[in-house]
Amino acid sequence: MATAHRHDVIIIGAGLSGLHAADRLKSTRDVVLLEARDRVGGRALAHTFANGDTVDLGGQWVGPGQERLYALIEQLGMKTWPLWDTGDRLIVNRGKLGRYTGTIPKLAPHVLLNVHLMMTRFDAMAAELDPASPWTHPKATEWDHQTVGQWMEKQAFTRQAFEIFAVGIGAVFTAEPHEISLLHALFYARAGTSLDNLLATSGGAQQDRVHGDMAGVAQRLAEGLGDRVKLNHPVEQIEWSEDGVTVTAAGQQFTARRAILALPPTQAVRLRYDPVLPSRRAALWQRMPPGACIKCIAQYETPFWREDGLAGQAVGPDLEVRVTFDNSEAGKSAGLLLGFIEGDHARHWSGRDPGERKAAVLAAFARFFGEKALHPIDYVDQDWIAEDYTRGCYAALMGPGVWTSLGMELRRPIGPIHVAGTETATHYYGYFEGALQAAERAVDEVEAALAAS
Ligand SMILES: Cc1cc2nc3c(=O)[nH]c(=O)nc-3n(C[C@H](O)[C@H](O)[C@H](O)COP(=O)(O)OP(=O)(O)OC[C@H]3O[C@@H](n4cnc5c(N)ncnc54)[C@H](O)[C@@H]3O)c2cc1C
Repeated sequence: MATAHRHDVIIIGAGLSGLHAADRLKSTRDVVLLEARDRVGGRALAHTFANGDTVDLGGQWVGPGQERLYALIEQLGMKTWPLWDTGDRLIVNRGKLGRYTGTIPKLAPHVLLNVHLMMTRFDAMAAELDPASPWTHPKATEWDHQTVGQWMEKQAFTRQAFEIFAVGIGAVFTAEPHEISLLHALFYARAGTSLDNLLATSGGAQQDRVHGDMAGVAQRLAEGLGDRVKLNHPVEQIEWSEDGVTVTAAGQQFTARRAILALPPTQAVRLRYDPVLPSRRAALWQRMPPGACIKCIAQYETPFWREDGLAGQAVGPDLEVRVTFDNSEAGKSAGLLLGFIEGDHARHWSGRDPGERKAAVLAAFARFFGEKALHPIDYVDQDWIAEDYTRGCYAALMGPGVWTSLGMELRRPIGPIHVAGTETATHYYGYFEGALQAAERAVDEVEAALAAS
């Protein structure tokens, strides 16, 4: 093997977290950023349609309370614009199409009241948690030893209330209610203010988009880093001691006094560590699988649904695509419908014939928006489960018992290896904002350690 490249800090993973960490360190430290793929951005990824318009196939929204992300977008000279949120929303429930206004679909009054009470109770419980240590809540064990689905069974008086709440859970977590620890769901909601905020469009987490695309934020950060970013460098091994790290990637060795691992847990646990990972850390990462999601976007000549007074937002508990949004970019003539296939549906459709998947998605769009939805001028979907260096999204989940037995390991450095990535955030865990917050915490740890040595 060739002589090792020496640096102060090695960052692994050029998603927004790794890029932000490198950006903050670059003026004071010799830093290198190793990225497995041939592109930066990780879960931020853009697609260009045949007509030249671009769209995000990964994360795209930013909303109030995500101040780091707004500041970064501004610092990079980019601008945001609000999601189209005008008009009625649609629901297909038990085969029937209905229109409604507001966040909660039009249902029988007792069902509506039940869903409203479930939301209120859920958010009241979430508000009690400290997102930095959810395991310290007096009811942490009780909440962690049940799934969201078990809690919903007790709270929902009707099947319909259960199904509607499950659509909300699917939209936020890209998982089924029986997969997720109640404590994890409460923590996630608390970290993002509330479940209500995470579900909301205007005034909530789905409020704004970036002109161009969110992947452009990653691209511009990478441009500022120049040749510190090494693409096509999948890290295979980290040898570590209290003195530093030696990282092997693409047949080369890189050494540094400190490393920042900015990977989702499923990827971090794939690397070889010498000495081996502390067993509690390995146990935690093995118990943090990602949600499952395929993001689907159909492009039309115009946003034709707006002529019918529709917002483009729809929910369909029984359909392959359970939620949709109007994703048309402000100032562009084309109309974009965005739908998510999540949880069990996503695992069903992952890796299947793309033509069949497209037909299923367009059929769901047509159930909401009529026959015109069957005839897009272009179409794209992104199967994140099939992506080798991500293997699922939006973010890692914890099933029952994980937070209270192992959650305290989440941000603990492993000798000279510090951990970043959105899955280590206490503010907007799972979101870009969390990726930035985690990067800042890891950089502070590295600076303190370097200053002390
Ligand atoms: C479909 C979808 C929709 C989403 N919607 C939103 C949204 O609207 N708003 C929002 O805020 N968030 C959203 N998210 C979540 C958001 O994208 C993530 O929280 C964020 O991108 C995480 O950034 P990260 O840097 O922590 O991780 P990642 O972006 O996953 O970055 C990790 C990087 O590590 C690299 N890597 C992996 N293994 C190795 C290895 N062995 N060696 C070197 N490099 C490696 C990967 O290639 C990747 O570049 C969405 C995500 C998806 C996929």
